[in-house]
Amino acid sequence: HTESEDGRGFKGHGMLAPFTAGWQISDLHPLVIERSEGSYVFDTNGKKYLDSLAGLWCTALGGSEPQLVAAATSQLNKLPFYHSFWNRTTKPSLDLAKELLEMFTARKMGKVFFTNSGSEANDSQVKLVWYYNNALGRPNKKKFIARTKAYHGSTLISASLSGLSPLHQKFDLPAPFVLHTDCPHYWRYQLPGETEEEFSSRLATNLENLILKEGPDTIAAFIAEPIMGAGGVIPPPKYYFEKVQAVLKKYDILFIADEVITAFGRLGTMFGCDKYNIQPDLVSLAKALSSAYMPIGAILVSPEIADVIHSQSNKLGSFSHGFTYSGHPVSCAVALEALKIYKERNIAECVRNLTPHFQEGIKAFAGSPIIGEIRGAGLILGTEFIDNKSPNDPFPSEWGVGAIFGAECEKRGMLVRVAGDGIFMSPPLTISPQELDELIGIYGEALKSTEEKVED
Ligand code: PLP
Repeated sequence: HTESEDGRGFKGHGMLAPFTAGWQISDLHPLVIERSEGSYVFDTNGKKYLDSLAGLWCTALGGSEPQLVAAATSQLNKLPFYHSFWNRTTKPSLDLAKELLEMFTARKMGKVFFTNSGSEANDSQVKLVWYYNNALGRPNKKKFIARTKAYHGSTLISASLSGLSPLHQKFDLPAPFVLHTDCPHYWRYQLPGETEEEFSSRLATNLENLILKEGPDTIAAFIAEPIMGAGGVIPPPKYYFEKVQAVLKKYDILFIADEVITAFGRLGTMFGCDKYNIQPDLVSLAKALSSAYMPIGAILVSPEIADVIHSQSNKLGSFSHGFTYSGHPVSCAVALEALKIYKERNIAECVRNLTPHFQEGIKAFAGSPIIGEIRGAGLILGTEFIDNKSPNDPFPSEWGVGAIFGAECEKRGMLVRVAGDGIFMSPPLTISPQELDELIGIYGEALKSTEEKVED
């Protein structure tokens, strides 16, 4: 499984494998990871890889943080489980909620709801918003506006909110109450001569026109990732969120910030909302919340929404929603420790200091004839391979240019995420400058080999 049949050389493990996780695919010779240490993971043959995606954009504190292991062990010894239903709960869950409310300062938040994942968080957002609007006596305000190329998860609802066609095809999705508006990718979608600000204005006008066409009274919420992740690492163009928020305010539409990738320092600020001046009504969190050491997701709820939901709690028809593992004490204990580390080690500031090294180090390759755009912020980057430097000239998909690059990295001991002809990197926030040099070095070598193969 190390040599491809088409003579293109090493293809890497699963580079062209389907987007699937629960489904085990041993017949495709998966790369089996056995252990991790700092920014590295090791396979069952002992081969070492720099984990440039931090697992799946999530092991923010690297793969061997002893404080997180100690937090889990201590909680497992004390209370491995108790639930959070019927006004019963556990101390780690209460403490974590309090801590999250203190840490999120883009605006004041009122309550926290725990889930097991980002998908569940976004799914729960829809129920929360519907419940809120029903409680306010506006049952028609039901529709959600998401964006093309967004990724919000894989459950029926979160996949509906996502704007990636493979998540919809053959699943009868998106659900009819979900609408999609433009992807804010300036490089790809700008009109001739259009400035970034004009592009943002056009997208905000398109959003407003969609709202007016559907009827503002039917639109409940808009959901967006501060930087789009799986859809291509797409940072917002200048003034985008400012203009979008003005439209949403005008029509009394809630803003849900999906911070599953961007929270806890990834962009050099504690939250993506801080970086882009977003004042959301609801926030989805997961991944780095526990540095991925335990599964956990969370929703931050504005005081206004929390009050309305709370006002129903003694009535018939209170907010009946929750999971056995909502606020799991071990996940919460690990997350609390992760938050403590983010604060004590000034992780967001560390990321700000590493940002020029990472961003400029990789963007130095932007002149490559096979690269269209390298984009990102903080410790997240996407590279798009394209012919003739033009967004309109993709390489033939059967060439698998992204996959070739991924395999070239893998061969040299680095794992990147390949998505078509895009490749993504979001290393642990604890990566050292020396490891960043190694990452940039491997990227450069893999690029050179990929260029040679493409020219062939
Ligand atoms: N939202 C965003 C922005 C994500 O990137 C992801 C996962 O990558 C999710 C939601 C879904 O999270 P999970 O895989 O934990 O369900």
